[in-house]
Amino acid sequence: MSMRVIFLGTAGSVPTVERSLPAVLIKRQNEQLMFDCGEGVQRQMIKAKVGFHKKTKIFVSHMHGDHVLGLPGLLQTMALMDRQKKIEIYGPEGIKQFLESVREILQFGLTFPVEIHEIYDAGVICDEKDYIVEAAKSNHVVKSLAYAFVEKPRPGKFYPEKARALGVPEGELWSRLQHGDKVKLPNGQVINPNDVMGSPRQGRKIVYTGDTRPFKGFAKFAANADLVIHEATLDDALTEKAAEDGHSTPSQAAQEAKKAEAKQLVLTHISARYPDVRLLLEQAQKFFKNTVVAEDFMELELPLLDS
Ligand SMILES: [Zn+2]
Ligand SMILES: [Zn+2]
Repeated sequence: MSMRVIFLGTAGSVPTVERSLPAVLIKRQNEQLMFDCGEGVQRQMIKAKVGFHKKTKIFVSHMHGDHVLGLPGLLQTMALMDRQKKIEIYGPEGIKQFLESVREILQFGLTFPVEIHEIYDAGVICDEKDYIVEAAKSNHVVKSLAYAFVEKPRPGKFYPEKARALGVPEGELWSRLQHGDKVKLPNGQVINPNDVMGSPRQGRKIVYTGDTRPFKGFAKFAANADLVIHEATLDDALTEKAAEDGHSTPSQAAQEAKKAEAKQLVLTHISARYPDVRLLLEQAQKFFKNTVVAEDFMELELPLLDS
């Protein structure tokens, strides 16, 4: 089952010719999970050929305009396209009032339900059949959240030869074992799933920081992530300014990814002062080699893990 991460907007604070405002999309089976929702996101979605009718959840990191102003436009566009499916929006305190006020003043009707979840505490905020989304309190200039998308482990590999050797007839009983249930053979013998299957296969993990300074607990929160999407608004020479403004630099982001033992790092929320991002990349790669600087419409494929 493939999973793609699409960078719809990679600018920090103000858009540029090349970069739209923050939005990252995980495309997985028939579902889309969007992290932050910068202005004009629906046009970015059209360009990236992302659907408007799919099952969708949106996770907002904090209530700064560059991260939330895309929401009213996106919802309105979806209504004009006659979307029917519910949309779920997660974000810090204030998101509900923000959306309700805009809807009231602009008087736009929606063709689909919108479920808003305000998050007050860190922890699991969304528990689905095969994944969870966890929130952590990050460290920006306003209340802010980082998010981790974590797939639940998949059952291990099924070994038909083991099942046959134990006398389990092919069909119904095989399928029950594959789904993790024990089965009883006609002769009364009980077979456990791990008699015929390998150990559970790890799921994939993606962490999105939103705007933040490096924050306590990140290494644990992002531990062993397949992908860390970390903001790096300003370069190392502006470390002090970054701290003042509640942001991170490339080497800070890279050190965080290293501590977390992540597999890959993507830097995003890039300030308009860097039309050439080589400097940012070099600063990060001193600490974490497998780094790229995000560009609008960049896509990453995350293959299933087999062990
Ligand atoms: Zn921002
Ligand atoms: Zn911000």
